[in-house]
Amino acid sequence: MKVLTIIGARPQFIKASVVSKAILEQSSLSEVIVHTGQHFDANMSDIFFEQLGIPKPDYQLDIHGGTHGQMTGRMLMEIESVMLKEKPDRVLVYGDTNSTLAGALAAAKLHIPTAHIEAGLRSYNMRMPEEINRILTDQVSDILFCPTDVAVENLRKEGFEEKPIKILNVGDVMQDSAMFFAQRATAPIGLDQQEGFVLTTLHRAENTDDPVRLASIVQALNEINRNVAPVILPLHPRTRGVIERLGLKLEVQVIDPVGYLEMIGLLQRCGLVLTDSGGVQKEAYFFGKPCVTMRDQTEWVELVSCGANVLVGADQQKIVASVSTSMGKLIQDDGQLYGGGQAASRIADTLARL
Ligand code: UDP
Repeated sequence: MKVLTIIGARPQFIKASVVSKAILEQSSLSEVIVHTGQHFDANMSDIFFEQLGIPKPDYQLDIHGGTHGQMTGRMLMEIESVMLKEKPDRVLVYGDTNSTLAGALAAAKLHIPTAHIEAGLRSYNMRMPEEINRILTDQVSDILFCPTDVAVENLRKEGFEEKPIKILNVGDVMQDSAMFFAQRATAPIGLDQQEGFVLTTLHRAENTDDPVRLASIVQALNEINRNVAPVILPLHPRTRGVIERLGLKLEVQVIDPVGYLEMIGLLQRCGLVLTDSGGVQKEAYFFGKPCVTMRDQTEWVELVSCGANVLVGADQQKIVASVSTSMGKLIQDDGQLYGGGQAASRIADTLARL
């Protein structure tokens, strides 16, 4: 079976790294990889292919920038051309980016069955571009590889069970990646602080595209750095651009985005994770670190229920107070929430048995 995989953004490279390895181990499967180009900086793209041993993409579409509509539309056109040429038996898409939606939609229109990895997640906030992408991708896919029981339940509530599709809780491929690469982690050089710091990431549109929220977060980070613990911030290029345009002043250790092995090194050494990322919330848990999330909702509600994660939105005082109380909290992954690191092989097995 020829599988056409569509990837384009940093978290998708990390997820695909383990699934592509599992696909390689199945003699009945072959994989063609399309990189849309959504993320294109060397430290947002190339470094992941080098570090994680992801096969070189067969197609580089080099599509990035513009509005959501422009980006998704251009991807749809180019991906369709690749599909017409390659004639895959199945398409594989990951997560919730514009690349995910464009890949799933192009496949649906050509009647090519699509499997969605990380299906069923919901924030119930339709202002998030990711929420629109994931709902529509689930609608046109025929295999929904869910990472959690909650994701399966979300699909049930939307009536998916009545359709002739497969819904499988295979666990979370990000746990596979975290476990596989943990032994190879390295610390980024040039850190002011070697451990016990607050590891921060910040790139969600609801924060970066709202000057009031962003200013409040920047003030919170500065206050934490002054009064609670040093803050290390590998800064997403888009966020860096907005902060510079708005003239906001970050008084924390800002570094360029790091490779995944360095990121794991930071996760292993930090005292707490403060983030608005989806993936990093779970990685905090995998590495036993408390997490404070600067969003109003999360798709990973099980982490909030078990007390590993606290949602604080963008309110300066709430962020600072929550970081102060959560610092040093003991977090233990019992291997139950995210499947324990078997997701990639379960996905490849399922595809091989079709
Ligand atoms: N990540 C990384 N380097 C960084 C920041 C994040 O390797 O400088 C990794 C992180 O460990 C996680 C993934 O990127 O595996 C998360 O991606 P991101 O936060 O961009 O996207 P989201 O998960 O929010 O969709």
